[in-house]
Amino acid sequence: MPEDPTDSPPFRPEDPVDRLPGIGPKRVSLLEAAGLRTIYDLLHYFPRDYRDYASITPIANAAQDATVTVRGVITASRNIRLRGRQSLAHITLRDQTGSLGATFFGRGFLADTVFRKGTEVILSGKVGNFKGPCLSNPEYEVLVGDEEDRLNTGRIVPVYPLVEGLTQRMLRRWVRDALDSVGTAVPECLPATLRKRLGLTGIAQALPAAHFPNSLEDTVSARRRFVFEELFLIQLEVLLRRERLTTAVPDRAGHVVNGPHLRALDCLLAFPLTGAQERVISEILRDLSGPRPMLRLVQGDVGCGKTVVALHAVAAAADGGFQTAFMAPTEILAEQHALVLRGILEPLGLRVETFTRSTPEPAKLRRRISSGETDVVIGTHTLFQEKTRFHRLGLVVIDEQHRFGVLQRALLAAKGPRPDLLQMSATPIPRTIALTLYGEMDLSIIDEMPPGRLPVKTRRVPAAKVPDLYRYLREQIELGFQAYIVCPLVDESETKTALTPLLRHFEEISTGPLAGVPVAMLHGRMDPAEKEAVMARFKSGEARILFSTTVIEVGVDVAKATIMVIENAADFGLTQLHQLRGRVGRSADASFCFLLGEPRTPDGKRRLDALCASNSGFDIAEEDLKLRGPGEFHGLRQAGLGDLRIADLVRDARVIDLARREAQALLEKHPGLKGRTLAPLAKALAQRRAEAENSHADGLDVTL
Ligand code: ADP
Ligand code: MG
Repeated sequence: MPEDPTDSPPFRPEDPVDRLPGIGPKRVSLLEAAGLRTIYDLLHYFPRDYRDYASITPIANAAQDATVTVRGVITASRNIRLRGRQSLAHITLRDQTGSLGATFFGRGFLADTVFRKGTEVILSGKVGNFKGPCLSNPEYEVLVGDEEDRLNTGRIVPVYPLVEGLTQRMLRRWVRDALDSVGTAVPECLPATLRKRLGLTGIAQALPAAHFPNSLEDTVSARRRFVFEELFLIQLEVLLRRERLTTAVPDRAGHVVNGPHLRALDCLLAFPLTGAQERVISEILRDLSGPRPMLRLVQGDVGCGKTVVALHAVAAAADGGFQTAFMAPTEILAEQHALVLRGILEPLGLRVETFTRSTPEPAKLRRRISSGETDVVIGTHTLFQEKTRFHRLGLVVIDEQHRFGVLQRALLAAKGPRPDLLQMSATPIPRTIALTLYGEMDLSIIDEMPPGRLPVKTRRVPAAKVPDLYRYLREQIELGFQAYIVCPLVDESETKTALTPLLRHFEEISTGPLAGVPVAMLHGRMDPAEKEAVMARFKSGEARILFSTTVIEVGVDVAKATIMVIENAADFGLTQLHQLRGRVGRSADASFCFLLGEPRTPDGKRRLDALCASNSGFDIAEEDLKLRGPGEFHGLRQAGLGDLRIADLVRDARVIDLARREAQALLEKHPGLKGRTLAPLAKALAQRRAEAENSHADGLDVTL
């Protein structure tokens, strides 16, 4: 039967919002600020809450301070001018049981327009007192004829997240119009069998139920459906990405995993590996010898010994005649890794070099890399930005990967034979979140510290005790220990003038309470050669105290440094504090972390308390999640996965697991989501990907 064109909805979901009545250019830009461009977006702008204004209370029963919904006829209505240019609408409402006042502050005009005498209205709000019982600024709905359009009260009403310039009333109106015009035209993207098996509401029911539900139970099942849909699409995306990144490479030889370099390592290491290190190394070696490129993320708390794990991968790559590119987020860290790796790999006959912004003759180094003369090159991201060509790149190691972010995408874009990728992170995140953020990677966890490590004793030091602290520092230094003093005064991105207070502070301390102690200073504005010289002086023990900004936050490893003093500690984030603390406690000597400064906010105090209470990165990460909320934590956008419309990575953790399993099962059955029945799903996925790309403009120019 041919379709009657008048039956099809007037708009399509992908139409821009301004197709709806009442949305002009100004409101388009307000909506745009909330990420709402299309009618589809509006339909998927989910309420953050609901108010149950469905049941009507007789006015006589409206008790003081109760939140009620009443229905009645307006018997009096006044527009009252207040001082200044303010106005107030005051109306009186009557039903069969009694009468009640209502005021609308700042909206006196309502009395002259909608609230005319004799009009029937529904109001919802809290009963206060203004010349008798009175609702102040209640939600309202005017009842006209049979066309009762109850959007704001007289039902369960949605409460949307607001952006500046928009009101609940506007959003409710527009979402209602969107539902009426295209609600039924939104295709069902979830396969029917899956939906049935999981008991998920269909899209045609779920959309209206999410916005204008008939019962609160309806909202629960609608939310469940959309949360699943969102997390399912994300899982499909990361798994497809994984598929693309790890497709078996035809000429991939696989690394040799029991070659001479690797075997020699055991004799060269000064310590036996921990069980966790052994396990993770064997996971890595299994990947390396397999037909698919490795894509592995190693997570382990600061100081658990990730470098030596990476070293094994480097040795295996070298055994197969492959080069390694080893990336670190800072030059200091790159230099430090170079020191460790050189010490072990050069005696084995491998050539290890560093490549940072300050490499003296980059062109020459690049030639050695492209000719294959250099086996291992350690550097910052300069390493890749300079269009370096490798002779035979087999392995990319990325240390402190949380500092990079966009690399996965960059690697994705890279052409040619895919190197193995090993990423390392000291910022532990809950497994379910990792499944999303790093969903395309295999995860390895180092959950054991080298033996003999003592927990770092962490204490807050009140201002009055600071002189005692300096005395203590002197004593410890005489005993042969070293200390860091970290100061947040300098925003590293700022100009040199921002340094002045830091320099003055350094001057004061080094000539005052610490006079005579060999100190050195390190900050982000120094040129790399200076930095290197300072680090060398501290590492050798010539300088006993390193006065520094947060440039030492990641990775720096000096075993004799057992004291960390953090000034204005509450100004730092919790994971950052934990990273800083991780600079000490790297040997069997007792270590201390002293937190200075009074927190100015309750959250600041909680951060410091959390740090004093635990040494475990996993505890700290969880506390951080609680304090900051997942929004800031997850960085989905950075991972190129777009923003979440409805799911909450913490609250919906179990759905992440379910979505992962279902996505895996579906892709196994239908590789690449081919097939006509999956077309709506593939389309939804493509749409989500396009949106994510729009919201994520930056990228890295990488040639591997
Ligand atoms: P992170 O995981 O924070 O990168 P590192 O790799 O810098 O930690 O290791 C921290 C310190 O622990 C280094 O000095 C390293 O030599 C030492 N280390 C690593 N593994 C062991 C081990 N199994 N036994 C003893 N010391 C170890
Ligand atoms: Mg490290």
